[in-house]
Amino acid sequence: VTPREPFDLAVIGAGPAGIMAALTASRRLRTLLTFTAAPAADPQPRLETVPASTLGLLIDIGAHPARLGIDRLSTTRHLAWAQADPQTLHGRAVAHIEHGALVAELFAIAQRTSNLTLRLESCLPVMHDGQWHGDGWRATTLVDATGRAMAFTQKRLQAPKPWVARPFWVRGRQVPDPSLRIASLPFGYAFRLGAPGLDMLWIAGRGTILAQSLPAIGRSIVAAGAGWLLEGFPTLESAQRGRAYPASVQWARTSSTAAVGDAFLARDILSSQGIASGICDAMYAACAHHEPDRTLWQQRQHAERGSHLRSLAHLIGDCRFRSCRVWAEYGRFIGQNVPRSSGDAVALRQGRIIRMPPGITAGGAPLPIALHEPGPGPQA
Ligand SMILES: Cc1cc2nc3c(=O)[nH]c(=O)nc-3n(C[C@H](O)[C@H](O)[C@H](O)COP(=O)(O)OP(=O)(O)OC[C@H]3O[C@@H](n4cnc5c(N)ncnc54)[C@H](O)[C@@H]3O)c2cc1C
Repeated sequence: VTPREPFDLAVIGAGPAGIMAALTASRRLRTLLTFTAAPAADPQPRLETVPASTLGLLIDIGAHPARLGIDRLSTTRHLAWAQADPQTLHGRAVAHIEHGALVAELFAIAQRTSNLTLRLESCLPVMHDGQWHGDGWRATTLVDATGRAMAFTQKRLQAPKPWVARPFWVRGRQVPDPSLRIASLPFGYAFRLGAPGLDMLWIAGRGTILAQSLPAIGRSIVAAGAGWLLEGFPTLESAQRGRAYPASVQWARTSSTAAVGDAFLARDILSSQGIASGICDAMYAACAHHEPDRTLWQQRQHAERGSHLRSLAHLIGDCRFRSCRVWAEYGRFIGQNVPRSSGDAVALRQGRIIRMPPGITAGGAPLPIALHEPGPGPQA
């Protein structure tokens, strides 16, 4: 029998959360990161917002803003959520990052990191004799970072009729206003944001509604008073468009291992918090190798989920179309699952997870980033 290479920790899945978990753990532990395919250029762009604090953290580990396609930070958002007329809000700075560029940059950093082994592997490891066994390796601890695939989850919970988001974009021209603009609609919401040479519009809602003809969707947006969002954008039929992504919240109910990022809690994309929170999760998970840190980490995860569900409930309650069927049904699902207690707050201090003194509430931002203020970055 060929001996298996031993690792302290194996991370499965090389998205932003998995790579950050592996990078953080490799400072102290012999770490393995497995991936099913190396990052490759995706012709379909996916612009996402991250708080400037998260960008700072990425720069600290060696990422370069130019390679992430960032030439400025944005502090302005235009929202028509609770009311029909768009309001302009000035808040904390966010960067607009192309998801593929972020993963490619993090992956390149992981490849240059000593004490971190990267392995292309399509099979999932199995547990026996108290260890995780993969193809030629074994590890004491395993972190599930497989995103919405939630590969180690026996049970997941999601809205009975999940929402998706369809992307439309135009490349290669000056973007008149790159700031985030968002409008609620009777059947969901639409938002627009830009980066150098890329103007992107997302339309989110239930799949059946978004399967309507594009002119009909465009007309519904205008009829809902959100025509301002489409100003300067080509018609939906003439813009480039791509596959829809899942957009509504989903979480792991029972999992055979520790999960981070979307594998633990795939946040509703309205929150614009997936990357910052996934990276934060990852940093905690990498420090939760031993008891009692693991128990505190679980408490933190519970609090994070509660905080996100409460934020969503708040957001749906604020939406001017909250009594429309799709919103009311989603709101009911969220309301049924909001935990009663927020749990104890924890923080990361010098590589250890600590319990915060009573009176400090657990969780991140009280309301989602996209519509309100960015939540705190990782408290490292
Ligand atoms: C349309 C859209 C807009 C969004 N906008 C924002 C935004 O503005 N701001 C924000 O912060 N977040 C946003 N998000 C959310 C954000 O993209 C995610 O929260 C984040 O990418 C999650 O990172 P992750 O590493 O947990 O998962 P992923 O990025 O999904 O990575 C998971 C990785 O695991 C791999 N994998 C899957 N199964 C296996 C397996 N069996 N074995 C090995 N590997 C496996 C996958 O190939 C992938 O590489 C948005 C998401 C979408 C869809």
